[in-house]
Amino acid sequence: MKYTNSEALYEEAQQHIVGGVNSPSRSYRAVGGGAPVAMERGEGAYFYDIDGNRYIDYLAAYGPIVTGHAHPHIAKAITNAAVTGTLFGTATTHEVTFAKMLKEAIPSMDKVRFNNSGTEAVMTTIRVARAYTGRTKVMKFAGCYHGHFDLVLVAAGSGPATLGTPDSAGVTKETAEEVITIPFNNPDAFKKAMEKWGHEVAAILIEPIVGNFGIVEPNQGFLEYVHKLAKEYGALTIHDEVITAFRFHYGAAHTLLGLTPDLTALGKVIGGGLPIGAYGGRKDIMETVAPLGPAYQAGTMAGNPASMQAGIACLEVLQTPGIYEEMDRLGQLLEDGINTLAQKHNVTISTNRVKGALAVYFTNEKVENYEQAENSDGEIFGRFFKLMLSQGVNLAPSRYEAWFLTIAHTEEDINTTLQAVDFAFAQL
Ligand code: PMP
Repeated sequence: MKYTNSEALYEEAQQHIVGGVNSPSRSYRAVGGGAPVAMERGEGAYFYDIDGNRYIDYLAAYGPIVTGHAHPHIAKAITNAAVTGTLFGTATTHEVTFAKMLKEAIPSMDKVRFNNSGTEAVMTTIRVARAYTGRTKVMKFAGCYHGHFDLVLVAAGSGPATLGTPDSAGVTKETAEEVITIPFNNPDAFKKAMEKWGHEVAAILIEPIVGNFGIVEPNQGFLEYVHKLAKEYGALTIHDEVITAFRFHYGAAHTLLGLTPDLTALGKVIGGGLPIGAYGGRKDIMETVAPLGPAYQAGTMAGNPASMQAGIACLEVLQTPGIYEEMDRLGQLLEDGINTLAQKHNVTISTNRVKGALAVYFTNEKVENYEQAENSDGEIFGRFFKLMLSQGVNLAPSRYEAWFLTIAHTEEDINTTLQAVDFAFAQL
């Protein structure tokens, strides 16, 4: 495969855009460097780069593209927004329609507010939780990523996973000290942390199924225990469902898990491929938000007609019967196939999967927390990533990201992918 145009573009991009990328995770630094492949066009489960190469896409734009690229129903909605006006800064019917749809799908949300990104959504839930409880501290789990605002750039998927140490320059020590980080799936560590700080904790930030160090499910009883202690200590539970909502079924992951958080943050999938964030939850908590209450949150682009119409259309597509079952079936085929090939080639891996989201770790242990994900072999992953790319399969350029299926993937795509894995494992 030739990447001549992508390489030339990267040279140029680096002169004008910091690092040549608009989000660090798009850089190939974590996979041994090189020019990131630049895409020109997406269609269903595939996209095409500027050199004319076609790829089966498992990146799904880091999660949002669950319907596949350029879905005609969503394209129609976006076109309608383009010709009828993309932004008014006023009330619209679309925002009310969409809010009602989200509430029906996620019954724990009595009230909703839209904004523009997952980062904004999570950031606001924390402000609201602090306003509601009058407390300052926030608890989170090591390796979970919740956006790029200061408070959550602490043990956020890379860098130091210790208490109160910022992951990013520019985040103050004082801010980092407001965050308590504990290992996922470790009830003892959680209990100890709550005994020490529980009465100061405004909120516990939870990815109910972790999507930021592969895919990691909570162990039986773990999140139930987190919720129980949160209630006892008067801390709110915030579910960050930016990746998980509408990824595994039509609704939030917490419904599947039988949990009811106080607040939920949304993003990614619900925008149908356009920028979006949203948060919602219990009525009395949400009424802390301006103009009803003292917690301020606003946005020129919040609830814009384009994102609203794309989101409505996306949810309409996701109501199609059988689609989540099919992603589960194909996910199983992919996972089983990869494990069989690993045995054939004597490659050490361990896999985690929830329906159409798969994680492949180059390690011999079952991954239940961030430390174990970190112990997987990044150098082998880097070579695997490049070999898969050479065979027309696009994964995220990081060993911490999941492989996402979409409703556009077919069994034939899975078989083609497994041929690529066969090729790649033979070379490792
Ligand atoms: N929360 C989670 C769980 C995420 O995975 C992400 C993004 N990967 C965010 C929040 C931040 O969302 P955004 O990039 O839209 O700001």
